[in-house]
Amino acid sequence: MRYEDFYQRSIDDPEGFWAEQARAIHWHVPPRAILEYGDPPFRKWFAGGTTNLCHNAVDRHLDARGDQLALVAISSETGETREISYRELHEEVNVFAAMIRSLGVGRGDRVVIYMPNMAEAVFAMLACARIGAVHSVVFGGFAAHNLALRIDDARPKLLVCADAGMRGGKVIPYKPLVDAACEEARHPPAHVLVVSRGLDPEPAWIPGRDIDHAALREEFREARVAVEWLESNEPSYLLYTSGTTGKPKGVQRDVGGYAVALALSMWAIYDVRAGQVMFSTSDVGWAVGHSYNVYGPLIAGATSILYEGLPTHPDPGVWWSICEKYGVRTMFSSPTGIRVLKKQDAAWLRKHDLSALQWLFLAGEPLDEPTAQWITEGIGKTIIDNYWQTETGWPVLSLMPGVDMKPVKFGSPGLPMPGYRIRVIDEGSGEDVAPGEKGVLVIEPPLPPGCLTTVWGDDARFMASYFSHFKERLYSSLDWAIRDEDGYAFILGRTDDVINVAGHRLGTREVEESCSTHPDVAEAAVVGVRDPLKGQVPVVFATLKSAGEGADVAGTAEAIRAQVGRQLGAIARPARVYVVGALPKTRSGKLLRRSLQALAEDRDPGDLSTLDDPGALEEIRRALGRGA
Ligand code: ATP
Ligand code: MG
Repeated sequence: MRYEDFYQRSIDDPEGFWAEQARAIHWHVPPRAILEYGDPPFRKWFAGGTTNLCHNAVDRHLDARGDQLALVAISSETGETREISYRELHEEVNVFAAMIRSLGVGRGDRVVIYMPNMAEAVFAMLACARIGAVHSVVFGGFAAHNLALRIDDARPKLLVCADAGMRGGKVIPYKPLVDAACEEARHPPAHVLVVSRGLDPEPAWIPGRDIDHAALREEFREARVAVEWLESNEPSYLLYTSGTTGKPKGVQRDVGGYAVALALSMWAIYDVRAGQVMFSTSDVGWAVGHSYNVYGPLIAGATSILYEGLPTHPDPGVWWSICEKYGVRTMFSSPTGIRVLKKQDAAWLRKHDLSALQWLFLAGEPLDEPTAQWITEGIGKTIIDNYWQTETGWPVLSLMPGVDMKPVKFGSPGLPMPGYRIRVIDEGSGEDVAPGEKGVLVIEPPLPPGCLTTVWGDDARFMASYFSHFKERLYSSLDWAIRDEDGYAFILGRTDDVINVAGHRLGTREVEESCSTHPDVAEAAVVGVRDPLKGQVPVVFATLKSAGEGADVAGTAEAIRAQVGRQLGAIARPARVYVVGALPKTRSGKLLRRSLQALAEDRDPGDLSTLDDPGALEEIRRALGRGA
């Protein structure tokens, strides 16, 4: 089928379209209405229908594919690989569900999960889904304060954690962070279930509150727990946004709409069907991890690969060796991940047999053209940039190789996905801009299935954050975009990241791309820094490829300035270029421009709790000539 027809059908007849897609999942009670939209912008997909994410992800596959691998959890940190069939997954999830139920968790109760990419994190998520508890996975390794904020927002009955994670061979104890967070929180959980990996032999223990997972598991080894049938619009989970632009928002997801959207996206977008293998390098604590390490592949009856570790350990070919070993068909990663590899020898990309691999999807940040070119040539596969948000739960923009593969345009995440009525509108007038002109990317409500239903416990914040920017009630993505004549969209950066040089508004993306076309540059970040004359001037922070080490740093910085000036005009030429070892990123791999900007303006960098590596900021302080 043509992409155009498939997409258009979803727009012209949304109820017919989604009714058809809904047949891909199991309903205990069929929906009484495909869409109820009596209270915009709130909407109810598949109202009255009852279903269950765990049943669709696990139980439903037992007859046809009980012995097929459901989950492969690989850790290059511990050196352990666990291959888990659908039958084994079913057992593990039942046992886990019985355990958390014995700790008082029931339908509607929240459970915070604070774990690295290990099989038990998936068991815990699916166990919650099974009994109708609402999980909230918090990225393992977040600081205690950050965890406490999320605990107070979600008010969980139970927190499930690992004793420790590992990163680059270093053990990072989690339990002390959990203890500190529970101390700080005003609404701490009644119980903490600790999954010990033997990494922290003697964790501090609060008797009565702390429960040892291995011991409790013994009690429930044979347990079976019936699936709880949930109304389609009940909450399935909460997931906080990355916090790149401020205080994270507790995105609330539903049950039925999410399952249907994922089922569609698995075959139509990611081109993965039952029995095939998908490898997403995401962490379970991120939206991609929820949708494409856990629920999506399992709902599709595919095999999902979960990876704990660095892309460069034990060597920079580790991802491709996994693709070879398991016959991965579709891989999903981030531009940030590829840029890490780009600092290594490209020969690593050619050491493994990638004949099964069809597609590499990348999402999360703008994919700059040099990086896209490098990886396209390096692995000889089609790279598909796709754009979405924690809020949407699945792609807004992508290409659809499972339906009709349109040509890739470098720099663009492609075309709107089914159900998304996207527009690019002028920030001031709210009118649609002409093709080729820059505006804000918005989605006309009702949002399609899979997207957030509200902000947890705060409908007012849901309205204020997303639907209050224009006189028409439109969902604002808060990202700048351009659409070309063919309908392809290009994302230019966040609306609050714009740099205003003497009245000229520069997108961060164009400047960063221009920097990264310099052969020595691995990655660049640009921020607008206050300037008495021009309002703001662009200031660049860049990391170099290893080939650039020992190079003439001052000369390179000057060359970058000159290059941007040449490519984008004098107005965009960076006032200063700092060459640094690492850029500050959120734990999900997004550049924290607001912290860079604050440091460059000698202000307090603000809430750094989502920062991945605090060392990066220290180095930048030094580069700027500021003390700690
Ligand atoms: P917060 O909303 O708390 O500030 P965040 O926006 O970083 O955090 P996420 O939901 O993880 O949290 O990220 C979504 C954002 O990531 C998008 O709005 C967009 O800015 C960026 N993004 C995602 N995919 C792409 C892509 N393919 N191209 C360009 N930008 C992308
Ligand atoms: Mg956001």
